[in-house]
Amino acid sequence: MSDNGPLLLYAPPREQVPVTQVKGVSSKQAALLADSRFGIRTVQDLVQHYPRRHLDFSETKAIREVGVGDEVTIIGAVRKVQAPPPQRRKAPLKVILSDGTSSLTLVFFNQPWRARQLPVGTRIAAKGKITSFRGLRQMNAPMVDVISEANEVVKIVPQYPATADISTVWLRRIIRAALDEYRPVADPLPPEVRRRHRLMGRTEALSGYHFPGQMTERDEARRRLVFDELFTLQTGLAFHKRRLERQEVGIAHQVNRDLAKPFLDSLPFRLTDAQRRAVAEIEQDLAKALPMHRLLQGEVGSGKTVLALYAALVAAQGGYQAAILAPTEVLAGQHFLTIASLLAPLSGTGDGQASGPGQLDLFGASGGPGVVLLTGSLPAARRRTALARIADGSAGIVVGTHALLEEGVSFHNLGLAVIDEQHRFGVHQRMVLRDKRAQDGVTPDVLIMTATPIPRTLALTIYGDLDVSTLNELPKGRRPVTTRVLDEDGRAEAYDLVRSEVAAGRQAYVITPLVSESDKLEVKSAVAEAERLATKVFPDLRVDLLHGQMRPAAKESVMQRFRSGEVDVLISTTVVEVGVDVPNATVMLIEDADRFGLSQLHQLRGRIGRGGYPSTCLLLSGVMEQPEEERKKARARLEAVAATNDGFELAEEDLKIRGSGTIMDERQAGYSDLKLTNLLRDKEILGQARAEAFKLIDIDPDLRANPQVRLEMEGRFADRLEWLFQS
Ligand code: ADP
Ligand code: MG
Repeated sequence: MSDNGPLLLYAPPREQVPVTQVKGVSSKQAALLADSRFGIRTVQDLVQHYPRRHLDFSETKAIREVGVGDEVTIIGAVRKVQAPPPQRRKAPLKVILSDGTSSLTLVFFNQPWRARQLPVGTRIAAKGKITSFRGLRQMNAPMVDVISEANEVVKIVPQYPATADISTVWLRRIIRAALDEYRPVADPLPPEVRRRHRLMGRTEALSGYHFPGQMTERDEARRRLVFDELFTLQTGLAFHKRRLERQEVGIAHQVNRDLAKPFLDSLPFRLTDAQRRAVAEIEQDLAKALPMHRLLQGEVGSGKTVLALYAALVAAQGGYQAAILAPTEVLAGQHFLTIASLLAPLSGTGDGQASGPGQLDLFGASGGPGVVLLTGSLPAARRRTALARIADGSAGIVVGTHALLEEGVSFHNLGLAVIDEQHRFGVHQRMVLRDKRAQDGVTPDVLIMTATPIPRTLALTIYGDLDVSTLNELPKGRRPVTTRVLDEDGRAEAYDLVRSEVAAGRQAYVITPLVSESDKLEVKSAVAEAERLATKVFPDLRVDLLHGQMRPAAKESVMQRFRSGEVDVLISTTVVEVGVDVPNATVMLIEDADRFGLSQLHQLRGRIGRGGYPSTCLLLSGVMEQPEEERKKARARLEAVAATNDGFELAEEDLKIRGSGTIMDERQAGYSDLKLTNLLRDKEILGQARAEAFKLIDIDPDLRANPQVRLEMEGRFADRLEWLFQS
């Protein structure tokens, strides 16, 4: 604990102040705060426990003066409380409010606790719209604030996220006490940055956000606090990025050799403009003696794999090895096959010759890059061979899963790592891979691929230390998937479509929601559903099942049978979400579609429509038993998926509906610390904060001239200092 300087907002542990230092917080209460879902332990935590909303009671009126339709705040005292009679529990609770000029009825639905909150005599402010019921004026479901002596004059009242033990009124009191005690707080933002963006001081911003005199003051205060959140975060990203660039020695790959360019020329299609742009960007990075740290994002089918292979060939043609990491065995296996077929035209024989299972010598004896597959389920003998070829360098391209990161795997000369779907890998694993670097201390280039469309704002935040290439168009000739929303009544129609497509020689997916692949019950229900479909619904079709708990070999064999057309209908959990490529599949039926995120639904349907046949995705909505309002909302979400094929649009929609947590997990750099920022709403501030952070780091790379900024950055990245200072 430090009593020396003013309070830092994002403080490294040694500079944090326990919340018991605040007047009125006993150690017992501190335990309550710490154990609550808010996890408030320090003064820093407390003053960043921001209001959920502010109630604006500044436009008050006398009851006598209000008319039906007015939106007003009334201040008065409770005259009477009318709880509904026991036999009519569903009836509303009524509170008669009087202010000396007249009286008014407040109506509360499903809130019996209001009787306890508002005993006769309580002075309150009530805000809402005046309506009329049987000729009497009333206010339905008003917002209410109990007025105590202490907040009598307060017109704008903060409402905090609260619990049964931690009331919003108490929070108001102790947050005010904390702000009084630690005023002024530290304000590390360089003054010229503050001036450029006309930001108020941090001390004023904190009290102006918690306890604003006017709503405009609150908004300006918020702007400053959001700026700080994003600025400290971006400072860390800039610091890390520039530091790596200074310290690491990369490989200047040779772009113009005899493997990579001929490969592009050999493709049976023209690259899209977006692919061309990405090739140019990747090429530039590869040619530089700085290690590449690039994110390649583009939705399913946008042609990322081709580019990954191109990059791998650039590495291989200069004598380096390239590793391609996939998140699952199924995907690794599939990448391996894709690579074989893509490289086939280049090999002398005209098709990819497998020289033993899982290994390819694409150019026969002519010294081309051997391609090797390494996964955890490889039989021991094949594993030994693979490991040997990785170690002696005869494997130029190594495709694999996490198994590649294990200890026994040592590369002869790793020059490039392509990481597919990196959000399934931890930052830590990225580092392990880097450590399998090529000899003489150079750092391999890293290309991260993701098919999850990430709105630009989010990308700048979670991947803010990476350069980004985006494939924002699909190859020509793709037929967009038609998507329809059905409810339970449409089930028969859905099965008919599956049946008629299969009759026409096509194949179908049925996706059952499995929130967690480790949930035994849910796996059981997927298995039961497969059973039902196989025996009752499609007894005449060939049905099979794929789920995450199956052993890798079993999974691969199901996939293999589906790929080769021996299975008509594949019942699957979301393990097919990423990358599985079966062009003959033209229908996808998604059960309980409401349980998926919009981006996820979009990902799933990307599995069909890959073969030039018209394809249909059917979203079955299973919320029949929910209240009308919920049902409408769910329906609207699904209709949004049906209405567009633009993954980025849906990702933004997801961000709006469900917040960012569902798109990325908590592991991402400092991301979970965004308390006030809304990346959609605060795009502009993000841009400003990022530009200022990079500018500052470029002038003052170690933040020697800005020690407080540095301290806050360390505080912000306290749980990933290893990453921040990585060298
Ligand atoms: P992603 O990895 O982004 O999901 P892929 O690279 O697997 O996409 O490409 C999907 C399919 O489209 C593959 O069969 C691939 O060969 C093909 N493809 C890639 N780029 C093009 C293009 N420019 N024109 C036509 N087809 C393409
Ligand atoms: Mg390079």
